[in-house]
Amino acid sequence: MIENYTADFYVKAAYDLDAKALKKLGIALVLVDLDNTLIAWNQPEGTPELRAWLGELRAADIQICVVSNNHYKRVKTAVAPFGVDFVNDALKPFTWGIKKALKRYSVSTDKVLLVGDQRMTDIRAGKRAGIRTVLVKPLLVSDHWQTQFNRWRERRVTRKIEATQGKTIYKDKIE
Ligand SMILES: [Mg+2]
Repeated sequence: MIENYTADFYVKAAYDLDAKALKKLGIALVLVDLDNTLIAWNQPEGTPELRAWLGELRAADIQICVVSNNHYKRVKTAVAPFGVDFVNDALKPFTWGIKKALKRYSVSTDKVLLVGDQRMTDIRAGKRAGIRTVLVKPLLVSDHWQTQFNRWRERRVTRKIEATQGKTIYKDKIE
């Protein structure tokens, strides 16, 4: 059961996934969660790191697509300043949104990486879809939309995983 929530990689932030390392892993498409992974609610315009990262991926010909459980209007507004493609209402932990993105880009699953800040939704969905996953630290530890219940579930599964695998170490880069 815990393997369903165990990511392939752990890095501190999405921006730590440098293009060179992604190329080395054979990644052609990065699917990225929106809230607390790409942007924080208190910084909707994003950070310089985010903009630099998106530029780096584009220059390396790595596609990027936001896959969010949020609704159309919210996601569209959020990604507008960055010109990033998106799938809304993704229904993570189910694979609906991921499958939609895979179909749109016609990329085989071994060339796709999913990046998210939650084991229960992002990592679970990536596992179900058979793609590699990266867990990042949430940009904000507490935020206004995530429920107490979700946080509790997330902590509970993290405790279970860490009991067998040891403490989660978030690295500075993907390797
Ligand atoms: Mg998130």
